[in-house]
Amino acid sequence: MLPTTPTNLTAEEKQSMLASVIDTSDDTIISKTLKGIITSWNKSAERMFGYTEAEAIGQHISMIIPKDRLNEEDLIISRIKNGVKIDHFETVRLSKSGEEVSISLSVSPILDGNGKVVGASKIARDNGDKIRSGERQAMLAAIVDRAEDTILSKTLEGIITSWNKAAEKMFGYTEKEIIGKHISTLIPPDRLNEEDYIIGEIKSGNKIDHFETYRRHKNGTLIPISLSISPIIINGKIIGAAKIARDITAQVEAQQEAKKLYEEIKSLNAKKDEFIGLASHELKTPLTSIFGYLQILERVITDEKPKMFLSKTMQQVNKLSSLVNDLLDVSKIESGKLHLVKTLFEVAEVVNDAVQLIADTNTSHKIKLQSEGTPVTIQGDAHRIEQVLINLMTNAIKYSPHGDAVDVIVEYSSDQVKIGIKDYGIGIPANKIPHVFTRFYRVEDDPNISGLGIGLYLSHQIVERHKGKIWVESKLGEGSTFWLTLPLVS
Ligand code: ADP
Repeated sequence: MLPTTPTNLTAEEKQSMLASVIDTSDDTIISKTLKGIITSWNKSAERMFGYTEAEAIGQHISMIIPKDRLNEEDLIISRIKNGVKIDHFETVRLSKSGEEVSISLSVSPILDGNGKVVGASKIARDNGDKIRSGERQAMLAAIVDRAEDTILSKTLEGIITSWNKAAEKMFGYTEKEIIGKHISTLIPPDRLNEEDYIIGEIKSGNKIDHFETYRRHKNGTLIPISLSISPIIINGKIIGAAKIARDITAQVEAQQEAKKLYEEIKSLNAKKDEFIGLASHELKTPLTSIFGYLQILERVITDEKPKMFLSKTMQQVNKLSSLVNDLLDVSKIESGKLHLVKTLFEVAEVVNDAVQLIADTNTSHKIKLQSEGTPVTIQGDAHRIEQVLINLMTNAIKYSPHGDAVDVIVEYSSDQVKIGIKDYGIGIPANKIPHVFTRFYRVEDDPNISGLGIGLYLSHQIVERHKGKIWVESKLGEGSTFWLTLPLVS
């Protein structure tokens, strides 16, 4: 027996092959009589419309035609009757579940053996994507139009091509008024060169983000805005720019307000510094003469009791003087007028003098001095370094009311000297440590321990001016050690 080839198929075989091709086709293929009765319905039609073959055959084609499109069927049939094919007719049909299916239809007449039109065959293709992209575009257009941000587009020549509702609100021009106009309509004359920059960036395919500038409203007022501009690329070619503009009036006002406040605070601060400077200067003059007169009295008074009162008065005047001096130093630092008198000096001498002074003027605490290494000479302001040491030792005594000792540790090395002042007092809470060198900062406003919160600030400034470091190690309730280092040459 000869093998069966497509050329020698029987008519029956040919028909069944065609039927199976139709049935397995990805396209929806349906045939109907001229009266619209469905006569064939392939698998793809089942998938597209949800009706099985058995459900569809014998039914009228209007079963899948939306009511408002029924006249399309008359048109199709009348053309088919005249033997005219219909190609790619884009329309919408209904599925069994009532959903709209957008399709592209091609309808051909079916002829009988005598060439008479007896029906129509339809091939339908799902057109969903096409419609969906159309819908998407419409949706996007609606989003853009209703967006709260101003969105507009322009050509590379600067001609405005789209303009949403927010743009109307922001700039006062309607879509009708502005489309086709040049973007410079919105740009203040002194900012026209910005447009060259923007277009330059866009032409190079760059985005511009948060470009803060001013644009002009139809009524001439300037609006502070933040612009984000992106190139519009179609088929790989940059054809224009899309701009999103945000009104930043509130932000700019807040910034201006903050700047104003900052300036006010700065000026108040300057006034306060000026006041501190003036007040301490004015206090210093009478204090100096009081002290002078007390010294004269010291020489002439011989009686024990008045001598004792005088000594106490002098102690208090000294305290007052040192406070006034500290205040004066603060104002000098603030105005950049704290001048150091640098010389070469023996560190050991300065440490000894400071220890001696504190040991002589206090009765509660023993000052123990330990020294390691070979004493060195350093370059700096000996008087100011002594001031730092006295200040740290005074604090060590002041903040250890129940203690009876302060250790002074001096470690000399080849490139620096390190000095520690250790007390066994109240200590400093860990979270307060970073603040203690700040001007006017006091950890606890303990009414029993007086102070202005400037001693450590001054010490820090003086040590830093010597290119040294100052820091504190402290444990609450156990005590503190204030350390400072001074390089041999500063
Ligand atoms: P004050 O005049 O208040 O002593 P300082 O600038 O010398 O000012 O010190 C700042 C703050 O640091 C003090 O108010 C105190 O709370 C804390 N402080 C300084 N030295 C010590 C110390 N040795 N022990 C505990 N706290 C200290």
